[in-house]
Amino acid sequence: MSNVHQPCHIVVVGAGIGGLTLALGLAKQGFQVRVFEQSKALSEVGAGLQLSPNAMKVLRSLGLDTALESHSFAPEYACIRDYKSGSYYLRSPLGQEVINRYGAPYWHVHRGDLHAELVQACYANDVDIELDHKVLGYRNERNGASILLEGKTEWADLLIGADGIHSKIRELMLGIEAPLFTGQVAWRGTVPVNAIKNVQVQPDATVWAGPNQHVVTYYLKGGELINFVAVEERAEWLQESWRQEGDVKDLRQKFSGWHPEVTEILAACESSFVWALNSRPTLSKWSDGAVTLLGDACHPMLPFMAQGAAMAIEDAYVLANLLGKGSFSQAFNDYEAIRKPRVTAIQQLSRENAGLYHMHGGLTGQLKLKALSLASRYAPSIVHSKLDSVYGYDVTSLTL
Ligand SMILES: Cc1cc2nc3c(=O)[nH]c(=O)nc-3n(C[C@H](O)[C@H](O)[C@H](O)COP(=O)(O)OP(=O)(O)OC[C@H]3O[C@@H](n4cnc5c(N)ncnc54)[C@H](O)[C@@H]3O)c2cc1C
Repeated sequence: MSNVHQPCHIVVVGAGIGGLTLALGLAKQGFQVRVFEQSKALSEVGAGLQLSPNAMKVLRSLGLDTALESHSFAPEYACIRDYKSGSYYLRSPLGQEVINRYGAPYWHVHRGDLHAELVQACYANDVDIELDHKVLGYRNERNGASILLEGKTEWADLLIGADGIHSKIRELMLGIEAPLFTGQVAWRGTVPVNAIKNVQVQPDATVWAGPNQHVVTYYLKGGELINFVAVEERAEWLQESWRQEGDVKDLRQKFSGWHPEVTEILAACESSFVWALNSRPTLSKWSDGAVTLLGDACHPMLPFMAQGAAMAIEDAYVLANLLGKGSFSQAFNDYEAIRKPRVTAIQQLSRENAGLYHMHGGLTGQLKLKALSLASRYAPSIVHSKLDSVYGYDVTSLTL
């Protein structure tokens, strides 16, 4: 595992979940890895993350599962419930049943905990994480790429842009193109469980489906916190920043009249940020000479399958292992050929869930949820067939 490869010096742009997973995977393959991160401090959004079995298999292969378990919460069921009555359209067991079916657990973790474990593992594997290093440009050279930062130029044999949906590396590779506003915004927040007095929030991963809105609720940190994501449709997003502090009174008002499990969580919430949910058309290419892209930089998606970070984690496994075999141009070609169909399918499933969760089509939308409810009760194989392709995928078992 620890033989040094040619090319051996790799720069990853972005210390998000995708960039750090890649950096760790590359270091374990014997590469010298530097991560350039624009922020002055290492941090992640103060919110939760659902880690499905397909992502957990990669994290386990990197030796992170034991450390993560102590921060995790294992939900009992994946549910879709009616926004008002709370009746169940879907109640599918997770827990041990998921481990039996897919070979890995389904966990909820705080993003900060996953990020901190990745940082620690990177340091333990001699990855250099260089903060306050905003990448401004790159140029392909004969045997690598030069990288422009404020006041200096650096060199790498290979450069990987894991710099998120507003990726500078993508822009330099493919041209300036603003991401597309999807007409959806997400309010995010966490609430201490002991601040919720009047209801017992179920220990599940729950989507509360309502007309043109939905809310996702789940526990974090062994059950100490509840995470929520409240999504609403909006015609436009006029702010320059794609994230802004929201007014919790406004949030509560938008979801007033919902089931008490939702309204009590929002009542206990003291602050929340609102995010514009953006997307991009499929990129014509992912690589350019010694440079390639990973995660949200090349395939952002709506969060309605909870798979964006999982896809970045899978990308990281594939790319690190292909590069570990030798020829980087072959590795970049194979990487795109393996990953593009997978992420395109998940992007599509995520878009479809917007219609389902928001009861699009009025009565038709409600009927679709009723049909799901019947299917989950009498023909669960129909529900499984959709999830098997997502959670049952094991990137660590591919012959790379
Ligand atoms: C509401 C919501 C809920 C979600 N829930 C889930 C979930 O439950 N499960 C799941 O799998 N996914 C979920 N996702 C998706 C997930 O958050 C993203 O797909 C994932 O974080 C992308 O990781 P990334 O590393 O590709 O990019 P990012 O996390 O965006 O990281 C990019 C990094 O690059 C840095 N950077 C950017 N530009 C530069 C530059 N020029 N120079 C240097 N550094 C730079 C940034 O500072 C940042 O640190 C959710 C998303 C949203 C919006």
